[in-house]
Amino acid sequence: MLELKTPDEIDKMNATGTFIARLLDDLSGLAAVGVNLLDLENRARELIRERGAISCYWDYAPSFGSGPFRNVICLSVNDAVLHGLPFDYSLADGDLLTMDIAVSIDGWVADSARSIIVGTPRAEDERLIESTRRALDAGIAAAQPGNKLGDISAAIGRVAADYGYPVNTEFGGHGLGRTMHEDPHVPNVGRADRGLTLRPGLTLAIEPWFARSTDEIVYDEDGWTIRSADGSRTAHSEHTIAVTEDGPRILTTLG
Ligand code: MG
Ligand code: MG
Repeated sequence: MLELKTPDEIDKMNATGTFIARLLDDLSGLAAVGVNLLDLENRARELIRERGAISCYWDYAPSFGSGPFRNVICLSVNDAVLHGLPFDYSLADGDLLTMDIAVSIDGWVADSARSIIVGTPRAEDERLIESTRRALDAGIAAAQPGNKLGDISAAIGRVAADYGYPVNTEFGGHGLGRTMHEDPHVPNVGRADRGLTLRPGLTLAIEPWFARSTDEIVYDEDGWTIRSADGSRTAHSEHTIAVTEDGPRILTTLG
């Protein structure tokens, strides 16, 4: 089911998205060498509670997880990229940390992720993160009314190819609104001018993520944490956006 949102509903998703942007800014400021992932999880819980938001992750139990999930944020370090289960780990110098969170406020969901480097950056990690940000920008720029879903995927895939990173096709972006995952699926690679026509009111989470040298993934024994199959580092950038008459509108930014 694909549900187009009214301008008023998009404003509500933007209110949720603004909260998420502030939360990710807050956690980015806290993440430092020696800080434990569980401290970041607890800070996210505190902010969610203060705001009266509802975590979309808590009790999330998809077919692939050994659910239900009992955390409010995914924290993925280095070769971990998606669904990283927060655990008792103190961040080390040079760690590449990805934070991904979705919450609902007043019934409307927003979803955003970002990767940061803790302490001293490695040039190759900065390049990897930059590639996902550029791919996200390119995907968003393609989200014009009248364009096709494939235009977004093709734009993302082109940036990955320019940087020389392979693209996994199992996990990508998605529709969202009243719930965290709605139609359509938004692959991170695809053919331009194919697929669904983008119409005003369509709301999407666009989320390029790449590993440096593989498109294959492996699961941890926790059933959640997804890593690059070859242990190479990974990065992920995600925004929730709305297609509007005036073009794409980013909902998970402070603007
Ligand atoms: Mg997300
Ligand atoms: Mg998402």
